[in-house]
Amino acid sequence: MYNEIVHSLGVAPNPIRQVFEYGRRQAKLVGPENVYDFSLGNPSIPAPPSVNRAIHEILDSQSSIRVHGYTSGAGGDLLRNAVAENLNRRFGRHAGPENVFITCGAAPALLAAMSALSVPGSEIIAIAPYFMEYKPFTEAAGSRFVLVPADPEAFQINFEALDAAINEHTQAVILNSPNNPSGVVLSEETLRQAAALLSGKAAKFGHPIYILADEPYRELVYDGVTVPFIPNIYPDTIVCYSWSKSLSLPGERIGYVYVSEDAADSKEVFHAVAGASRAIGHICAPSLIQQAVAACIDCMPDLEAYDVNRKLLWNGLTEIGYECVKPEGAFYLFVKTPGGDNSVFVEKALKRNLLPVASEPFGVEGYLRLGYCVSKNMIERALPIFREIF
Ligand code: PLP
Repeated sequence: MYNEIVHSLGVAPNPIRQVFEYGRRQAKLVGPENVYDFSLGNPSIPAPPSVNRAIHEILDSQSSIRVHGYTSGAGGDLLRNAVAENLNRRFGRHAGPENVFITCGAAPALLAAMSALSVPGSEIIAIAPYFMEYKPFTEAAGSRFVLVPADPEAFQINFEALDAAINEHTQAVILNSPNNPSGVVLSEETLRQAAALLSGKAAKFGHPIYILADEPYRELVYDGVTVPFIPNIYPDTIVCYSWSKSLSLPGERIGYVYVSEDAADSKEVFHAVAGASRAIGHICAPSLIQQAVAACIDCMPDLEAYDVNRKLLWNGLTEIGYECVKPEGAFYLFVKTPGGDNSVFVEKALKRNLLPVASEPFGVEGYLRLGYCVSKNMIERALPIFREIF
């Protein structure tokens, strides 16, 4: 006997990986130079040299017992303090280490935060287009997953639909900005409107409704765009962050939960995050990378290569006639599917070994996600194919 719920999750195909695997098979048949794979969201900019330098220095200067030893479950003081001070400096917060729980990336941060807030009958809301892991995380946490349809104009928030989705069972609303898959940054105006709506609903239902701010792409913005820091707009916010994208460290598994010091029941929610992590076997995040990230806490990514790709792809596609929401952040373009039917268009694309991801798993129909964390040269070679199949 085995658990059929998690079994079905384990065998369910991951639509992004399926496209990627198809590309690998095709590369063997037609040569990698003839495959145009836009499927994955893997950083293609290397981690900043200061990260590697920090790792060497840590290894050279400390006993291996210390470097490779356990830290406390919430993370070592070094990184928790560094994160709190960084948030205070950059965003005028008053955080302390007691507000920061170090995790193995944004994904476990989200699961811990969702679990911390899940009570019998509770619901957690996501807004389309959304990162598809939110649903299994929400359900594993013990809440019902509620999806609010997209704002098809600008991929901000469809407030009418959000208003209708919130009820007395709503415990949290997940906001992901910059967004995967749309690349959209939620504007200050949108966030203020969301804050007003949630405050009103919380007052009506007599309990806080938290924002779970999923922010692994916070630092990936272009054209001088800034990402408003949600705890400064809405007190009941829990930030889930990682260095997977900002420092190109996805395989090192390092991130954090920041329970705003202003949030309702902040201390208790923090303890619940710790307990939820403990309950799924979290002992501590890897200690070497905790120290390395602490040493590089103020390091910002050099986004030049992504920005060049973004402009090249956006200009190239819009010149052909593709329509695409303005890509201000992350490293994805969300392109309206010519003709509107993904099954028809994607089949045409795959035949020419052009590999976008169809938008349905993100909760929206008729769009394509193109990850531009690829080589510039591949984009240059792919544009004539985009033209051919338009
Ligand atoms: N949230 C979003 C929107 C993502 O795109 C990802 C990863 O791609 C994650 C969370 C998970 O990030 P991590 O690798 O840090 O767990």
